[in-house]
Amino acid sequence: MPELPEVETIARELRERVTGGTIRQVGVNRATPLRNTTAAGFQRFLAGKTLTAVERQGKYLLFRLEPGGLLLAHLRMTGKFVWEDPSATGTNHPHTRVWMELGWEVERRWGRLLYQDTRCLGTLETAQTQDDLPALARLGPDPLSGAFTPDWLASQARRATPLKPWLMNQRVAPGMGNIYASEVCHRAGLSPQRPVNGLAPKEITRLHQQVRQVLGEALAHNGTTVSDYRRVDDKTGGFQQFLRVYGKTGQPCPACRTPIQRILQQQRSTFLCPVCQT
Ligand SMILES: [Zn+2]
Repeated sequence: MPELPEVETIARELRERVTGGTIRQVGVNRATPLRNTTAAGFQRFLAGKTLTAVERQGKYLLFRLEPGGLLLAHLRMTGKFVWEDPSATGTNHPHTRVWMELGWEVERRWGRLLYQDTRCLGTLETAQTQDDLPALARLGPDPLSGAFTPDWLASQARRATPLKPWLMNQRVAPGMGNIYASEVCHRAGLSPQRPVNGLAPKEITRLHQQVRQVLGEALAHNGTTVSDYRRVDDKTGGFQQFLRVYGKTGQPCPACRTPIQRILQQQRSTFLCPVCQT
């Protein structure tokens, strides 16, 4: 699933391509991704509006519309946005679920934004205001923003929850997912099984630094492609070359050469070095 660096990369690439475009036509090939609306309702809501901004909140993509309205997308496992020029015919692609034709009248250009999803687990939701999107209200402060502080992490570390699943809680660190949570625990030298209410202040500080460091580095490399993640231009991310533990079972720890182990936490794989992480 795309995490903060991947979704942020997609948001930036979409912003360059779709900002200022007016929605001239909306196609719904399959309504499965739509939430709280029908295909006809979705088309009516969007037609004629202009996309004024593309933002990321946690792992969500938020499109702002004029005159009023929001479109919220969550890519889940295999969702992706594809931008195509008018000569392409991706609207008929078997994995295209929803598409929009966007036009720029003054510049006399147009193109299509396709939402493709092989497994069709991603979601698209429309709303008048952000208050109508409860999923966003549940997100904690963005890990790359100034509001994400060691004090914030300490304030959320009140129960005996194991570190790695806690880090993946979108209330604690929105945008954090399975890949970066393992990487952050390794870089911070902390066992993913440590109960968070037992972390010392200096460990929380280390954790906070590594959350920002790992996510920032991954963003600088346009994210990590280990399976499905593709950028808007279909390129892959580059951070997979810099992973230290994720997916590296049996390979030597880059710090101490001990073989990396894989364990399961809440049915998800966690990768760790049993020597460096305590
Ligand atoms: Zn090690």
